[in-house]
Parts: sequence; structure tokens; C-alpha cells
Amino acid sequence: KGALYVVATPIGNLDDLSRRAMDTLAQADLIAAEDTRHSVRLLDHIGVRVPLISLHEHNETSRIERIRQALDAGQQVALISDAGTPLISDPGYRLVQALRSADYTIIPVPGPSALIAALSAAGLPTERFLFEGFLPAKGAGRRQRLSDVVDLPVTLVLYESPHRIRQLLEDIETVCGERHVVIARELTKTFETFLQGSARSLLERMADDADQMRGEFVVMLAPPPPKELADSGQVDGDQLLSSLLEE
Ligand code: SAM
Repeated sequence: KGALYVVATPIGNLDDLSRRAMDTLAQADLIAAEDTRHSVRLLDHIGVRVPLISLHEHNETSRIERIRQALDAGQQVALISDAGTPLISDPGYRLVQALRSADYTIIPVPGPSALIAALSAAGLPTERFLFEGFLPAKGAGRRQRLSDVVDLPVTLVLYESPHRIRQLLEDIETVCGERHVVIARELTKTFETFLQGSARSLLERMADDADQMRGEFVVMLAPPPPKELADSGQVDGDQLLSSLLEE
């Protein structure tokens, strides 16, 4: 039987494609890509000519059988998405789940992911974090999801698109008030920028400089300070005292 290779690809800078990722793609018999036209550009760039099939949100279930047949015939199959690590706010979960439960060999070829790149340079606590990906598009659902997690003692990591970034910051201000926010924009690209401050101050930055609203964003919220935790009744006095003393 062949193996499925889950291959991370760049999130902007093509030099981030690892040598192992390149070799895996070059040696694959079949590549399943989220958007084949998009991935052809990456594959052309590295001189790889391998048959491609699409695998996206709308056809993933029907592709599972096709890929299973390829593996049964001894082929090596690579899974890639448009950018970063497949399955991380990208297609692939149903395929990997189906193949894992049938005990196929699945091999990760790790590499870029906006989530980890953003966290690694944000200056926020990383020993505990919660990745919520894209919040629901509708305002009420988004605010509800934020309030479900706002008091957890973890760094919160969100993905957002340029046309909703201001709305997201408005909702963060409504639900989380003065919470410290770090935005990682256009990671690994020419206009890579980190901005930090309250949601309100970031909105003001965007109002002053419309370029700050362009591109791709990872939005990170600091964990609540101990006082907020105490106010919400989540820690007892002793715990609060010891965390204050630690600080
Ligand atoms: N699978 C990808 C990963 O591993 O990061 C994520 C794919 S998801 C469809 C796309 C979202 O990831 C964007 O809307 C943005 O929130 C984030 N993202 C992807 N590339 C980025 C970059 N270069 N800079 C900042 N955020 C990025």
C-alpha cells in the first residue's frame, strides 16, 4: 500500500518550502490540492509535474474513494492546501480521518502555518493557547463564540480575512474590553507587520492607515489578567495572591 503525505506549503514566502516537502511532492504519484490552478504555480516554481486532483470542502467526501484506490494500488499521494498546513482551517480532515480509521499510513511533512508563525513572534504566552480559527461570520454568533472563551487563562488565536478584520476588532472590544491584542499581518511576505494594543487602538491605526487593513491576518488575544479571573470567580484568593506575588 502507498502512503498519504500531508505536506505543508508556504504561507507567502516560497523559500519556506522545505527540501523534504519538495522531494515528497516530486516523488508523489498523485497530488490532491485544494485549488489545482493555485497549486500548479507552486509546482511549476519547483519544476514538479505530477497528476493533480482537486480536494476541497465541496468534494472531499467523494475524493476519499479515489485516493483510497490510489493508495491500494501502491501509489504515494500528497495532500496540499493553498497555503500552510492542510487541515488547519483548510480541507483534509475527512480524508485523514477516513484513512486513519482504516489504518492507512499517513505521514506529516511539517512546515509553515500562520498560527505557529504568528505565535512564535507575538510575545504572548505560548504554554497554553486556544486556536479558534475563523469565528462565525455573523456578528451575534461571533460575539457568542468570543464570550464562550474570553475568560479562559490561555492565549486566543484567530484567523480573519481583510473584509471582516475591523468588525472582528469591534467585537473584541465589545466582549473583551481593554484586552491586549496582537495582530500578525502578511506573515513571511513583503509587508509583514505586527501591531499591538487594545482593539480600539488597533481600529484607530487602521482608520489612519488603510494599508493596515489589507492582506491576511492572525489575531491573538492575551490571556485575561489575574484580576479579571478573580472578578469572574474563576480563581480563589490564594491562587490570585500567588499569581500576583509571582508577577
Ligand atoms: N492552512 C493555513 C495555515 O496553516 O496557516 C491557513 C489557511 S486559512 C484558509 C487562511 C487564513 O490563515 C487567512 O485568512 C489568515 O487568517 C491566515 N493566514 C494565512 N497566511 C497568512 C499570512 N501570510 N499572514 C497572516 N495570516 C495568514
